Amino acid sequence: MHELAVTESIMGIVLRHAEAAGAKRVTAIHLTIGELTGLVDDSIQFYFDFIGKDTLAEGARLTFKRVPARARCHQCGNEFEPDTGKLWTCPACEAIGGDVVAGREFFVDSIEVE
Ligand SMILES: [Zn+2]
Repeated sequence: MHELAVTESIMGIVLRHAEAAGAKRVTAIHLTIGELTGLVDDSIQFYFDFIGKDTLAEGARLTFKRVPARARCHQCGNEFEPDTGKLWTCPACEAIGGDVVAGREFFVDSIEVE
């Protein structure tokens, strides 16, 4: 159900911008989603089609730009691509854990309107 709340917030943003721009129709929405958000493209599209009925955004195409996860090691500062879903281990010094540098982003990048 995570995706439903997310999709509702996307819809709010998109409709606000489309109305402000005096658009007749929203044709495409470009989203950026970090790998660590756990959001599933298909689910977002599914909810979008559902919530978007009878709005300016009905039938809009969604595109998803995925941002891979990146972590920075506490010990040595090395940046690495963590294996999501597992305990993160720094490949340089084998310390466990790290700060998230990328992969938690989620935003509407741009929208196309007519
Ligand atoms: Zn390290």
